[in-house]
Amino acid sequence: MKVLVINCGSSSLKFQLIDSITEETAAKGICERIGIEGSRLVFEADGREKTVTEIPMDDHLKAVQLVLEALIDPVKGVLKHLDEIGAVGHRLVHGGEKFAGAVLITDEVIEATEACNDLAPLHNPANLTGVRACRELMPATPMVGVYDTAFHQTMPEEAYLYGLPYEYYEKYRIRRYGFHGTSHAYVSRRAAEFLNKDYDSLKIIVCHLGNGASITAVKNGKSVDTSMGMTPLEGLIMGTRSGDIDPAIIEYLTEKEDKTVSEIIEILNKKSGMVGMQDGGPSDFRDVSEAYKAGRPEAVRTLKAYIYRIAKYIGAYTAAMNGVDVICFTAGIGENSSFVREHVADYLGYLGIEIDQEANGVRGKDKIISTAGSKVTVMVIPTNEELMIARDTKMVVEGMS
Ligand code: AMP
Repeated sequence: MKVLVINCGSSSLKFQLIDSITEETAAKGICERIGIEGSRLVFEADGREKTVTEIPMDDHLKAVQLVLEALIDPVKGVLKHLDEIGAVGHRLVHGGEKFAGAVLITDEVIEATEACNDLAPLHNPANLTGVRACRELMPATPMVGVYDTAFHQTMPEEAYLYGLPYEYYEKYRIRRYGFHGTSHAYVSRRAAEFLNKDYDSLKIIVCHLGNGASITAVKNGKSVDTSMGMTPLEGLIMGTRSGDIDPAIIEYLTEKEDKTVSEIIEILNKKSGMVGMQDGGPSDFRDVSEAYKAGRPEAVRTLKAYIYRIAKYIGAYTAAMNGVDVICFTAGIGENSSFVREHVADYLGYLGIEIDQEANGVRGKDKIISTAGSKVTVMVIPTNEELMIARDTKMVVEGMS
């Protein structure tokens, strides 16, 4: 069966057509600047040259229509007919406490997802626009929702409750949900498979270090704690997000800077993290590390704090699981930056961790980067959220028959 995986943002739509048997990608691409002037479709199929088509896209419906036309295009396409698409798998960000796994999308599921919109106002409504567009254009094709929060629904109460009046949890479901779940699930499972070990008896820490970043403790195949919280703002220092801060800072800043709470939250989301710590410097990690190498003090303080926070979380999650067998690095920075991996590992000598400098030179492929004598196995595992969504989609659709 071919699964079309859709990841819909507010002005973009990423897609991948994956053969669920061979797990190979037949075509992939992105619609950019949807609803904005200068929209374009980037399409890449089966080893053929990438094409970029500038074409107006007023809304997501038009974007999905263009993707479907490209997939069956006699020259650049890979399908004869749209019937060959057995199912569509949608990345959905927030499923609250309602979804602990992938689900067949029905009117009720859309409604329940909409009910979580105020927990992820930037993501959920955009995700659902993609769902509606696909349902309209492919009414007979099953649609499956795969939530970023689902993998973390196994967290125990002591990990997901905040130290707040309990009535806020009861009334508003304020708690830790966690994100990047599809990535943490894929990477931890892949690590066990690569090491030929039983997933259900390993203690794994996954460091997903991209523009957004989170760390998860996976014990015996289940997420038991994760660094992002009710929203993706908590936890690590990220490209533009602050991660953990003292919540009292918010009121203090509203007074000192004469700003509203919403304005401060916007600063915490978009102008903090690596950008903010460098006084408006770059958010792209490659630029930050160039500036570090050149000895720029704003980059030095930023990277030191960035690495320190990761090491601190690894320590916390080792304690939470009473040990750790495997630490995995993934996403743009985790997969590519030997510098970050090496400097995080410098903090972890107490765990008996030793990094193999040569192996640590790896970029973007599954590899063990610790020495044979290291007490904990450290690995690079490139994430593949689209494949995980295709696998979950296949599982749900097969369960229907
Ligand atoms: P992601 O959100 O997973 O796409 O990751 C984006 C982050 O990965 C950005 O900060 C990029 O600068 C960083 N990144 C991508 N490629 C590299 C690379 N070759 N070396 C270091 N960082 C990289």
